[in-house]
Amino acid sequence: MSAGAYPPRLYAPGPVPVPPQVLAALARPVLHHRGPEFRALFGRVRAKLAEVFCVPGDDVVVVTGSGSAAFEAALLACVPAGAEVLCLRSGVFGEKWVGLGRRFGFAVAELAAAYGTEYDLERLEAELRARPHTAAVVVVHSETSTGMLHDVRAVADAVRRSAPEALVIVDAVSSLAAAELRPREWGLDAVVSGSQKGVMTPPGLGFAWLSERAWSRSEGLLPTGYLDLRRERERQAAGGAGSTPATSLVAALEVALDLVLAQGLEARWREKERLNAALLAAGEACGLKPFASRPSPAAAALEVPAHVGVKRLTGALREMGLHVGGGQGELADRIIRPSLLGWTDRHDLMLLAGALESAARTAGLAVEQGAATAAAARTWEASA
Ligand SMILES: *Cc1c(COP(=O)(O)O)cnc(C)c1O
Repeated sequence: MSAGAYPPRLYAPGPVPVPPQVLAALARPVLHHRGPEFRALFGRVRAKLAEVFCVPGDDVVVVTGSGSAAFEAALLACVPAGAEVLCLRSGVFGEKWVGLGRRFGFAVAELAAAYGTEYDLERLEAELRARPHTAAVVVVHSETSTGMLHDVRAVADAVRRSAPEALVIVDAVSSLAAAELRPREWGLDAVVSGSQKGVMTPPGLGFAWLSERAWSRSEGLLPTGYLDLRRERERQAAGGAGSTPATSLVAALEVALDLVLAQGLEARWREKERLNAALLAAGEACGLKPFASRPSPAAAALEVPAHVGVKRLTGALREMGLHVGGGQGELADRIIRPSLLGWTDRHDLMLLAGALESAARTAGLAVEQGAATAAAARTWEASA
């Protein structure tokens, strides 16, 4: 029997479970987007977003559209037509940005790392010295498809050393409000994210922050329409918006941002890291192998033995009323990605560890009763 009237609870790296008070905000009367209530709300939300982005006082532009819309808008807002762009790729999302860049006619070069491993920074510097006109380097912070947290700070340092003019554009869709991210201190130039991951809101909003240096690169840009980040920045700074934003989602987002800020960014980063480490330990106790060399708190990527198969595990979890992400792309049949990214706590950790263990036995793995919950509890307690 399934969990009944409710859809499966989300333990995937986006969309994530949303707190009830955030859902309740969606039921408030719809505001007029040019009225004083919404203008005040939008101003507060943009200020709170800037805090969550760790760039207090700066402009974070809100895009109605998912995280990909924010990424596209940011790319087009600071990279001139036909420019050379170096994309770092080590998973599905890095590959997505390679494809997007080519469709817009940028001269895209790629630097690959094996899935779940770090980029070779010496190779990166050599690539950049060989391409001194590179306008931008694109890197995914938390590569959600492999569960890897890439060291974007080290990448940005390497870019500064070898191609100081190149902008560093970071996909932080699944790392915002989950992993340490300090755009100014780390010398990043564009950071984008979306509503349905670390900030615990339904899908539908994207966010983009650009450095002053990136905003100053206004020459020779491709034409844009709806996703004109520069125009939106001006409109939003003046309290408005170019078109009708998803006003109810903005209202819900404020409630979620208040929760994130009440916890405190650093406390939240730490909690998500501890939860994910404990989840990985639970997976190991089930005979699954952690996949990424530097795990992202957004997802516990775990390799599933070939004779078991990903679908048997995710299917058994679904029977218990839990949606756990499988792999994507070439990892589709190799890993599962249970996640505690959203509105989750220690009780979710223990529940998920227990469910994973039970599903592992159902799928044919020999796991001792209680082994996964014991490993999760041990890891959590040891990291206090
Ligand atoms: C989810 C995700 C995206 C895509 O975001 P959408 O909101 O689905 O457009 C991009 N990059 C990463 C790393 C993600 O996790």
